Amino acid sequence: MQKIGFIGLGIMGLPMARNLLKAGCELTVYDLDATRIEAAAQSGAKAAGSAAQAARGNPAVITMLPNSPHVREAVLGPNGVLGGAEKGTLLIDMSSIAPPAAREIGAECAKKGVEMLDAPVSGGEPGAVSASLSIMVGGNREAFERVRDDILLKMGKSAVYCGELGAGNVTKLANQVIVALGIAACAEAFTLAKKAGVDPTLVFDAIKGGLAGSNVMNAKLPMMLENNFKPGFKIELHSKDLSNALETGHGAGAPLPLTALVTEMLHTLRADGFGAEDHSALARYYEKLSGMAIGGSEGSGIRG
Ligand code: NAD
Repeated sequence: MQKIGFIGLGIMGLPMARNLLKAGCELTVYDLDATRIEAAAQSGAKAAGSAAQAARGNPAVITMLPNSPHVREAVLGPNGVLGGAEKGTLLIDMSSIAPPAAREIGAECAKKGVEMLDAPVSGGEPGAVSASLSIMVGGNREAFERVRDDILLKMGKSAVYCGELGAGNVTKLANQVIVALGIAACAEAFTLAKKAGVDPTLVFDAIKGGLAGSNVMNAKLPMMLENNFKPGFKIELHSKDLSNALETGHGAGAPLPLTALVTEMLHTLRADGFGAEDHSALARYYEKLSGMAIGGSEGSGIRG
């Protein structure tokens, strides 16, 4: 039986933890939000009072937190993972964070004899619930192989080794660029169709099986058609990923002009108070520009 500490029980972390419990793992869980700990405890997890306590006595510790500062705090901070982890513990950070931060945190862990994999995921809340996430992993290959079948593939349908520590998050940034640009392309194209007099529902039916069809379109277009922007994946988290992509691109000499544009759209939506909505709310940006919502006849109310 796998004994695992699990820290970060948000939209993604809670269903991931539940899938590990279903697979027979013994979990000790922690989150800053006590209601999330309680929800995991009801599914059979042991509650911890700190990240250190969640790590104590567990050979593997998983973190699923918003961004680099949260992972730093939960791992290196007072009462963090390193306060409870023994030498030989494997930390699997499944959050999406900046690649250099993953390498820095890994180096601090190594000083205490704790090894780290960066293993961010794609597939969203539905993938987390149905244990069908795509997992992209950086770090020591042997450590990856040790946990691939018994831990990672209990939460995902694929787990691919991408290279040294940080490579998981570089892969995730590439993924996030494609998803953000895909959502923006959908919002732009369906605004065009509706403005030019064709029902967006019919456009979706007509094109989803063609070359323009995609997982992004299938997941996010129905939300735009219903003006339903309940997260899912929050705008504030996606704008964090694109900021990390721009910083990484600047450092690596990769040009990212389209990413820069969509980052500004997401920042505008955050400034307008929509940061906690799903990233499909990029449709609101186009509604503001065009005076017309893709979904429904009433619109989402952004102009009122
Ligand atoms: P979320 O905001 O729903 O959950 C984050 C959780 O972390 C919260 O419950 C919060 O209380 C907890 N937390 C924050 N700081 C903490 C700390 N120091 N110690 C303990 N707990 C702490 O976020 P989410 O949607 O679950 O996303 C988690 C990560 O997964 C992010 O990096 C995100 O980019 C990535 N991700 C999300 C999705 C998605 O669709 N939501 C998909 C793929 C990847």
